[in-house]
Amino acid sequence: MSAKQSPEPPLSLIGMSHAEMVDLCLRAGVKAVHADHLRAAIYRHGITDIDRIGDIPQRLKTYIRSHADMTLPACSASQGSRDGTRKLLLAMSDGKEVETVLIPGKGRITQCISTQVGCAVGCTFCLTATAGLTRNLTASEMLAEVMAGRQQTDGQLRNLVLMGMGEPLHNYEQVARFVRIVTDPRGMAFSPRRVTLSTSGMIPGIRRMTEENLPCNLALSLNATTDEVRSKIIPLNRKYPIGELMQCIRDYIGRRGDKRVLIEYVMLAGVNDSIADARRLVTLLDGLKCTVNLLPFNPYPGSAFRRPDDATVEQFRDILIRASLVAVIRQSRGRDISAACGQLKTDVRQKRAASL
Ligand code: SAH
Ligand code: SF4
Repeated sequence: MSAKQSPEPPLSLIGMSHAEMVDLCLRAGVKAVHADHLRAAIYRHGITDIDRIGDIPQRLKTYIRSHADMTLPACSASQGSRDGTRKLLLAMSDGKEVETVLIPGKGRITQCISTQVGCAVGCTFCLTATAGLTRNLTASEMLAEVMAGRQQTDGQLRNLVLMGMGEPLHNYEQVARFVRIVTDPRGMAFSPRRVTLSTSGMIPGIRRMTEENLPCNLALSLNATTDEVRSKIIPLNRKYPIGELMQCIRDYIGRRGDKRVLIEYVMLAGVNDSIADARRLVTLLDGLKCTVNLLPFNPYPGSAFRRPDDATVEQFRDILIRASLVAVIRQSRGRDISAACGQLKTDVRQKRAASL
């Protein structure tokens, strides 16, 4: 079930860590301090044209032109929703396209980042799953999503959620590189508390996040309370069942001290939305520092699932709250432009063909 292992892609300048920029400067025969200028220009100010970086010597510019790549996927289209949500489409060098979504909130904007083109996990309720996995995104391509997002949001972009297309922990190396760069205080400087990585339950990846103390929050798409149901809707559960997964989450919290995890729970009518499910969820989360996000299923044509009615969702939430859990119902945003949870599926050729 893991993503195709491709060799590490060549590093572009955008996507380099500070240490790698220092190395580049030394190889170019200029002082290491110019790495600070590169980092500030690219990550803080979003400059992607070497000629527009003022503070660096000509010799470094010449070296970069011949040894490093600075091209970034460009924003090829943008679509606005009635509720203020905006979807951006980025065209990558191999012709693939990837979607990212900007979601406005009170005085701040959250961006939903894609980490792969498609996804290999195959959850039966998710539109992204239907096309399978095309390829991993590079850190540089994920950074391009944020750069495009920043350009459109006038300094209001505060939160990043890795909840777009893809399973981030199937693309660990590039995702971890991305997370470290966006949270670098002298780079993009997002607070690690405002960057959230969501996984369908890849235990080895969660362990790695724990060991490396990856600077971001963790969200787990639990989505069911028994292995029988979870394995039906998230095939990865056969390999990493609920018991082991919850132990892994408890270890994560134990090792990282003050951390709280986000538990996501997609509500599917008649599948995982019963009172018995709510009670089992209370037991599974007993004593765990967490917030539960209930996501009523977001339907799409051809899906076999239905969204539960509001009363069922509220009753489910109230059982969690009465058991002293923090639980909120998250209504999908951007549904009219297919930008909501589980609705990102970049099959642009198909979309274009349909609109001809
Ligand atoms: N692959 C990661 C992150 C991307 S999916 C993961 O699965 O966690 C982001 C969230 O959207 C997950 O919690 C997923 O369960 C949820 N989701 C997927 N399809 C959905 C749908 N049709 N309706 C509501 N939520 C959905
Ligand atoms: Fe992949 Fe997440 Fe969709 Fe499952 S829900 S198929 S893991 S993107």
